[in-house]
Amino acid sequence: MRLLARPIVLVFAVASTTAAQTPRPAVNTAPMLGALDAAATRYADVAKQIWTFAEVGYMEEKSSALLQSELTGAGFRVKTGVAGEPTAFVAEFGSGKPVIAILGEFDALPGLSQDAVPERKPIRAGAAGHGCGHHLFGTASVAAAIGLKRWMETNKVQGTLRMIGTPAEEGGAGKVYMVRDGVFDDVDAVIAWHPGDENSVTGERTMANISGKFRFHGVSAHAAAAPERGRSAVDGVEAMDAMTNMLREHVPDGTRIHYVITNGGRAPNVVPDEAEVYYYVRHVDMAVVKDVWGRVVNAAKGAAIGTGTTYDLQLTASVYSLLPNEVLAKVQQRALEQVGGYTYTADERAFAERLQKSDAFTAVPLETTAKVQPLRIGQPGAASTDVGDVSWVVPTVQLSAATWVPGTAAHSWQAVAAGGMSIGFKGMMVAAKTMALTGAELFSSPATIAAAKSELASRRGPGFRYETALGTQAPQLDYRKGSVP
Ligand SMILES: [Zn+2]
Repeated sequence: MRLLARPIVLVFAVASTTAAQTPRPAVNTAPMLGALDAAATRYADVAKQIWTFAEVGYMEEKSSALLQSELTGAGFRVKTGVAGEPTAFVAEFGSGKPVIAILGEFDALPGLSQDAVPERKPIRAGAAGHGCGHHLFGTASVAAAIGLKRWMETNKVQGTLRMIGTPAEEGGAGKVYMVRDGVFDDVDAVIAWHPGDENSVTGERTMANISGKFRFHGVSAHAAAAPERGRSAVDGVEAMDAMTNMLREHVPDGTRIHYVITNGGRAPNVVPDEAEVYYYVRHVDMAVVKDVWGRVVNAAKGAAIGTGTTYDLQLTASVYSLLPNEVLAKVQQRALEQVGGYTYTADERAFAERLQKSDAFTAVPLETTAKVQPLRIGQPGAASTDVGDVSWVVPTVQLSAATWVPGTAAHSWQAVAAGGMSIGFKGMMVAAKTMALTGAELFSSPATIAAAKSELASRRGPGFRYETALGTQAPQLDYRKGSVP
């Protein structure tokens, strides 16, 4: 396998300003923004319900149904069970070109159950929680879609608006199967967002990753009376982990390898015949990820041979890096600056100050929620998202809104806490209004969409053809099985 077949360009050149990149603002958007403000309490209630459901990947039945019912009630045609994913859906309004899609996620994370209070307090020990704010993500996207639909109706705007409900972002690669199965084939531009601790348009290039579960199979035996008859599946896991830990020294800079042992046997006096280790490999360049992943698989093979065990591999996800689109990012930046941030009430400030004193916090001034960060394009990011795959096939733009107290890390109990109260709901409406405005500008400017598409073509380079390491396999609907009580 060739390494770095496609060189990474970390900082993209600033494209020359053209008329296409400064479209006239969409007409008559004030009533749309006003209606979204007026519906803020309703959407806070929707988000709070999904926060309470806290359903993990591919199990988001109630969350998906609630979002669908909001869309159906607003007059969207809703198709469910898309791309072999029972909780995925596509809600549509209008017809013809352009086709503009808004993405919405709604899955929670195992083990992050937390009440909406500024100290660590699980609602139910070991249960799931919305540590990545996807309850806000899905709800804001539905709100934006409903606001935009009404704007289209009032102003007789031509085109198709879709709200695409995308399950299992956290490790299940829900969008990857949707991209592979053609859900985005006729889409001209995609608008998304993600909860965060600041208001900014996301110009960073996230990390590509591949993940999977290696299940080792051995022979069970009495560990003291007949050890010679046994072959330990845990030995297979440990030998593999030892080899991949050596590998860390001999991989390109910026590579990340993580694993957790998801089954390490049950009792020391029984030679375990089953064991499982769950791996992630990440790097900003998919070519590097594929190469390192191949070497991790070789470690599993070697471990199995050496320990007299066998293994099988369940590939759980493979996602591309997020490819920024500067043309769309400028449109969204303008929209975000028009919407602006928000300030805390005295109660919210007290909540935030207490949260900032908790463990693992980097104190950032609380006033940043009122600001909009300047646009930066192309810097390397540390996270991964399956929005990445979408961004390689359709021009895609996404923002962050300050739904978390400044300084909060994603996937933390502090994120769950703020996401379950008014701080999260206020940030969510910043995102909803910004996405609706972005959509209105895109529907009003075919030239912008054309420029965004040609930018995508040049960033991908000649000869790019989308393919996923997941091949033809079905969505791994059981990948979270056993992860929640
Ligand atoms: Zn997330």
